[in-house]
Amino acid sequence: MSFGSPWFTLPEFTYHKPKTLKEALELLDKYGEEAKVMAGGVGLLAFMKERLMAPSHVIDLKGVPELGQAIYKEGEGLTIGATVTLNELARYGPLKKFGALHDAVRDIADPIIRNRATLVGNLCEAIPWVDTPPALIALGAEVEIRSLKGERRVPVKDFIKGPVEIDLEPGELVTAVHVPEPRRNSRSRFIKYNTGSEFALVSVAANVVMDGGRVRDVSLVYGAVSSTPQVAVKAADALKSAEKPWEVLDEVGRIASEEVEAVSDVLASEEYRRHLIRVLTLRVLREVMG
Ligand SMILES: Cc1cc2nc3c(=O)[nH]c(=O)nc-3n(C[C@H](O)[C@H](O)[C@H](O)COP(=O)(O)OP(=O)(O)OC[C@H]3O[C@@H](n4cnc5c(N)ncnc54)[C@H](O)[C@@H]3O)c2cc1C
Repeated sequence: MSFGSPWFTLPEFTYHKPKTLKEALELLDKYGEEAKVMAGGVGLLAFMKERLMAPSHVIDLKGVPELGQAIYKEGEGLTIGATVTLNELARYGPLKKFGALHDAVRDIADPIIRNRATLVGNLCEAIPWVDTPPALIALGAEVEIRSLKGERRVPVKDFIKGPVEIDLEPGELVTAVHVPEPRRNSRSRFIKYNTGSEFALVSVAANVVMDGGRVRDVSLVYGAVSSTPQVAVKAADALKSAEKPWEVLDEVGRIASEEVEAVSDVLASEEYRRHLIRVLTLRVLREVMG
């Protein structure tokens, strides 16, 4: 990842490798805004190399055993610890129950990056075009946050506040992400469209609950279209209220393409993104409803 800076080395910093969560939280509490936690380091070290971030203290979480597990409990859902890598998660059998997340994790970058990068790091990086946030939002996931003062949980949709901006106070870190058990008769998928770059121009996650021939509930979430993931509420309502949902899919795509915030940038124009939103909505709904 290069943002065009001339730097090839990292700025000076002190490296810490705590062995327990308590030790990590104490370090974070001590160094406050001067510290950054590191999971895989794929994003953090690139940002540091480019001098977009220059923490004096880097707290590597990889030595904390309790953060390194993915655990699925039937009826409760999936808990993904902060240092679980994308490849470890992709290989974890129960992930297949969470279709949209399975799709998103499997397709990120390449196997070398997936061997190092974590799901929580991907989420906390909060750059607009990363893949896992739309899938996590569509699945109703929550972030578990800890500090020396205690624990709190925040829905992923509220956790991302802006580009590279998340709902974390100094002294806090993310310990895990919880994805609830999929609802009965539900199905979810994630699709991204990219050309020549690993990052998406537009991505969409859909989570649909079917009831006979009708759609009882649906969540449509778009990534890479604006500074934060976008939820299409009107398009979802149009699908839920349709007596024959199969006949309104194109219309639902049109509503979504007009409803969500979309921007022009070096990768794509707003107009092209809106076109892609329409096409990808149709495609993802055909897959989840099929
Ligand atoms: C060549 C290349 C291609 C890529 N392609 C894709 C792609 O196709 N799709 C995609 O989604 N991404 C892609 N990425 C981005 C990559 O997936 C992310 O950089 C990576 O997932 C970040 O995870 P990490 O574990 O390395 O996080 P880190 O680099 O360790 O951390 C990232 C940020 O999150 C913070 N952080 C990490 N863990 C925590 C925590 N527990 N609590 C609080 N804050 C935390 C760090 O302080 C840092 O600010 C690509 C990157 C590269 C270099």
